Amino acid sequence: MIREDCLNTFFKISNSPNWSCPSCNKGIIKLKKEDLKLFETRESYFSRIEFLDALYPTRYRFSSFLTCSDKECQDTVIVTGNAEHDIDDVNTETGVQIWELYIFPQYFNPSLEIIKVESNYPEKIQSLLKSTFELFWIDLSSCANKIRTTLEVLLDQQKIKKITIKNRKKTKLTLDARISLFGNSRNQQVSDILKAIKWIGNEGSHSSNIDRKSVLMGFKLLEYCLDEIFPARKKEILRVAKQINKHKKYK
Ligand SMILES: [Zn+2]
Repeated sequence: MIREDCLNTFFKISNSPNWSCPSCNKGIIKLKKEDLKLFETRESYFSRIEFLDALYPTRYRFSSFLTCSDKECQDTVIVTGNAEHDIDDVNTETGVQIWELYIFPQYFNPSLEIIKVESNYPEKIQSLLKSTFELFWIDLSSCANKIRTTLEVLLDQQKIKKITIKNRKKTKLTLDARISLFGNSRNQQVSDILKAIKWIGNEGSHSSNIDRKSVLMGFKLLEYCLDEIFPARKKEILRVAKQINKHKKYK
């Protein structure tokens, strides 16, 4: 999981985060003031004229290209969003106001990875994860809701049934019931964690007030479950160990 402080929904341009490059996962991409293209919004322009107030915050839309610091990668990420030039602080001795440009990113292409997307995850899961990463910046409720959808697809992929027969009628199983079935037949510990993610997803479906911290916890729990269900590293390590033991050396 990438550092949470890099995922703040807004920041000062003087304190721009070191985002991890989504293409190589080695290099850093960073938003710099000199690379920003700022366009003042119509509303901001007319408000400033109307109030004739030099202290009125100026609101912008922005775009920028971010280039990966890794020499072999150097891939480009496009970022767009909103920005606001506002008073940050006042010097208590001189009374001089200190202004700052606040950045509110809303869209990255390609999207920043919030958790690692391993190549051995099923394609549908990989694609859903990328959608959740995009939504994280625009709409946290929709993001949490999409995490919930990822659970449904994960259970489909694990061949957990969707329908049961009740009173001779076909009845759709709830997500909770499907997770319990997964627990009974596969892994009870992972099932408990999937249920916790489900609650976070439900909050996104029923409330528009879900906070960033809850969504990030949802991602953290999901990353653990995916690693348990699709243990690429574990398999690879066991395969290598078996090979070394067979040949009594690494080759
Ligand atoms: Zn890169």
